[in-house]
Amino acid sequence: MYSVGIDVGSVAAKAVIFDGKNIIAKKITPTGWSPKESGQQLFEEIIEVNDIKRQEIKSIVGTGYGRISLPFLDQKVTEITCHGKGAYFLDASIRTVIDIGGQDSKVISLDSKGNVIDFLMNDKCAAGTGKFLQVMAHALEIEVGELSTIAQGVEAQTISSMCTVFAESEIISLMAEGASKESIAAGLLQSVCSKAYTLASKVGVKEKVFFSGGVSKNPLLKDLLSKKLHTEVISSEFSQYLGAIGAAVIGYKK
Ligand code: ADP
Repeated sequence: MYSVGIDVGSVAAKAVIFDGKNIIAKKITPTGWSPKESGQQLFEEIIEVNDIKRQEIKSIVGTGYGRISLPFLDQKVTEITCHGKGAYFLDASIRTVIDIGGQDSKVISLDSKGNVIDFLMNDKCAAGTGKFLQVMAHALEIEVGELSTIAQGVEAQTISSMCTVFAESEIISLMAEGASKESIAAGLLQSVCSKAYTLASKVGVKEKVFFSGGVSKNPLLKDLLSKKLHTEVISSEFSQYLGAIGAAVIGYKK
C-alpha cells in the first residue's frame, strides 16, 4: 500500500508517493492560476507514471495554501506540521527547519520526536521569499537559478530597500549607475539571508539545521546561512518536497 502527499504552494505544486519506508516517487509542476486543477492533474500524473492504482493508495494528504481547493483529499494538514514530520522522516536529528518558499518563509523548531515546539512565519511580505528573487532575477534579465552562479565569489552590493517593489527600483538604479549584475545578485542573496537569519534568531537555532523550500536550491544562499548562523545548514534533493513528504508520512500512519 501507498500514501500520497500533495503540497500545493503559491508557485509550485509538489507530490510524493510513500511506500511506508521510502519516498518512491516525486513530481513538481507550476501551480499556475488554478491550485485545484494543478493539484488534481499532478495527483493523476504521479500515480499513472508510477503505475499505481487508486485502490493501492490508503491515504492522500494535502498541505500548502492550495490544499483547501482539492476535493479528493482524505486529510488536510498545515504546512508547519507537515514540514516538521517531513524533516523528522528525512533525518531524525534535525531540530530547526528554515523554509523559504514562493511567497512565505518560516522557521520551525522541532523536538527529538519531530514535534513542532515553536515556529515563526513571514507570509505578510514578499521580501526574503522566492517571489522576491523571481522579481529581481527578472529585473536583472536572468533566471532565478542563475543568481547563485553569477554571485559566487563576488563582493555584494548593498541593497537597502526592504520592500520588493522598492528593491526592484533600487537595483534598476544601481545598474544604471554601473553596478554589475553579479554584485547585485550577491546583494540580493545577502538580503534574503539576513531576513531568514532575523526570523531564525527569534525562534532560536538548534542543530541540525535543514534548509527547505524552492529557494534552498540556491547553494550560495545555503552557504551564506551557514556562515551567518555559525552552524552547518543542510539541504537535500527532497528539500522542496518537505511538506509533501510530511503529508505522505502522516497519511501512511493514519
Ligand atoms: P511554494 O510552496 O510557495 O510554491 P516552493 O517552496 O515550491 O514555494 O518554492 C518556489 C520558489 O523557489 C520560487 O519562488 C522560485 O523563485 C524559488 N526557486 C526555485 N529554484 C531556485 C533557485 N535555484 N534559487 C533560488 N530560488 C529558487
